[in-house]
Amino acid sequence: MFPQSVFPDTAKVDSQGELVLGGCRASDLADEYGTPVYVLDEETLRARCRSFIDEFRKLHPATHVSYACKAYINPALARLFEEEGMGFDVVSGGELALAINSQVSLDEVYFHGNNKTPQELSEALENNIGWVVVDSFYEMDLLDRLAGEAGKTQDILIRVSPGIDPHTHVYTTTGILDSKFGFSIQTGDAANAVRMGLAAKNLNLRGLHFHLGSPIFELEPYRAAVDLVLRFAAEFREEGLELQRFSPGGGFAIGYTRDQEPPPVSAYAEAIVSTMTATCQDLKMDLPSLVIEPGRAIIGPAGVAIYRIGAIKDVPGVRKFVSVDGGMGDNIRPALYQAQYEVVAAGKANWEPEEKVTIAGKYCESGDLLATDVMLPKLESGDLLAIPAAGAYCPSMASNYNMNPRPPMVLVKDGKSRLIRRRESYQDLMHCDVV
Ligand SMILES: *Cc1c(COP(=O)(O)O)cnc(C)c1O
Repeated sequence: MFPQSVFPDTAKVDSQGELVLGGCRASDLADEYGTPVYVLDEETLRARCRSFIDEFRKLHPATHVSYACKAYINPALARLFEEEGMGFDVVSGGELALAINSQVSLDEVYFHGNNKTPQELSEALENNIGWVVVDSFYEMDLLDRLAGEAGKTQDILIRVSPGIDPHTHVYTTTGILDSKFGFSIQTGDAANAVRMGLAAKNLNLRGLHFHLGSPIFELEPYRAAVDLVLRFAAEFREEGLELQRFSPGGGFAIGYTRDQEPPPVSAYAEAIVSTMTATCQDLKMDLPSLVIEPGRAIIGPAGVAIYRIGAIKDVPGVRKFVSVDGGMGDNIRPALYQAQYEVVAAGKANWEPEEKVTIAGKYCESGDLLATDVMLPKLESGDLLAIPAAGAYCPSMASNYNMNPRPPMVLVKDGKSRLIRRRESYQDLMHCDVV
């Protein structure tokens, strides 16, 4: 059975058994753009933005939805997200530069990161970005000084670490005590940070932020953390902390395999807003505006990677390796996080599975396996394979390992495709080298 739930909304299998995305046949896309190629379905992208904005605003009208650029961003997408009414989370001077270049509004840009450099903070100040989310005492000091030198007052949120485990991969858990991110509430650092933020002459502390990790399939960690952080905030009312904005971050899960059922956006919205409302009522505190920061849940389900099969190696009684023309250079997630994916033979998308194979990449690492022991129809060299749910943290984490050019990005809609990033050339690979 074709795993529809992990593919973009417009995905279907045509009468020839071929995968069609946004009205474009996988083989036509492969012919036109080569492989590997990352295909993004425009309808899914827009629907995911609307679903976050609508579901949260239905329950709490003062909600800002900020797209976490690190999941993947480029100028065409930045324009598209702005059209949909999204703000942007950036985590580096490079992401900020991309937002500036794409001419999106910087009022709803949030600058995150545990070690922003003096240069990055200066760039944020020079460009009048809306919000800096302060993550360390070092940064608080530095930003206050730089803002003073620039003759500005910078709006900030403070990132606190609530000490709550969202039960995801250890590499993507961020809100626990043993984490490099944020001021720990437990140790008293968060309290000191709030006092420092309130006292800072050139900073305007307007709220708190936390981010638990990703992907989070459970609602309870959000409920617990929202309650805990609001109660923490209430302790500082007397000292002058006015919680105008409150951000429980991102981390909303998507389905990578057919058996996964992530909560719908409406369930995350309900869990967060109902907890916030109840706790604020209990504390007799005004409801702050909410900042939601989805990355994966916006672009992940919209993306499909298409590869072409080359070598096939059967080790009798052990394993059959089917190698494709991409791998860890465009999708590091299986190697880094043991991430699992569905794999579909794009030209045989509704054929019965016949054999157990392992999908290997072309990179010089034995760990470069995209999917291990998956059941697929009989495959041949030259066949196309599609990996769905590949929009987030794949191209954005891509590397040029082994001097492989990074793949192109193509947006599809209504039977038309549009190149929004071309494939790198060999010249691109040597562009920065100095002889
Ligand atoms: C990475 C990150 C996000 C987005 O996480 P997703 O899992 O992609 O939704 C949001 N906020 C912060 C601070 C982050 O670091």
